[in-house]
Amino acid sequence: MPVAGMISGLLLIIVISFLFGRVFCGNICPIGALQEILSIIPVHKTGSSIKKYSVPFRAAVFAVFLAAGLLFSISLFDIMGVKDFFHLNFASFSVLIFSAFLAASVFIYRPFCRFICPYGLLLSLVSAPGIYKFRRTDKCIECGKCEKVCPVDEAKRDDNKSECYMCGRCMEVCPVSGALVYSRKKEGFISPEKKN
Ligand code: SF4
Ligand code: SF4
Repeated sequence: MPVAGMISGLLLIIVISFLFGRVFCGNICPIGALQEILSIIPVHKTGSSIKKYSVPFRAAVFAVFLAAGLLFSISLFDIMGVKDFFHLNFASFSVLIFSAFLAASVFIYRPFCRFICPYGLLLSLVSAPGIYKFRRTDKCIECGKCEKVCPVDEAKRDDNKSECYMCGRCMEVCPVSGALVYSRKKEGFISPEKKN
């Protein structure tokens, strides 16, 4: 794909993520889809609390990739075969590395997205101040079911949803119709202060 096409595609994904959240990660990315499917296997998963480690770890990985490229003209991205993985090319060396990530997906929710993916880092940053998100309304009874089921610890009332992969688990378990909505802030979100 020509460079201009790749840049336009990336910009489009960035704009979409700012407006609507990480719909690319949750609904289009083939690697995300594979990990999501494997996460369905009913095995005890490592707690969602690893968010405090995974986010800085992914940022550190990104910094190392960037430094290797800028200082030594080495593409760790290519050496690891990340491109092959995104193209689901399992005929290369990358199959060994990514088989490990896929196996880990059974025990940890989306390990590649949360610990390694450079696009994930970028989309996480732009979706944090984004427009449309899953938000609680004044109908919420604070039962905490959404928080319990969220695999990435993003379902608390004030979470910015930067790590929300739009899996829909929170919506599925919410017992109150209209308590949790996918909306802009002014339509759906009522702050606890306003409620009291
Ligand atoms: S459970 Fe809800 S908040 Fe958590 S990742 Fe899924 S959609 Fe996002
Ligand atoms: S599951 Fe629904 S009612 Fe319960 S805390 Fe979450 S949004 Fe509120």
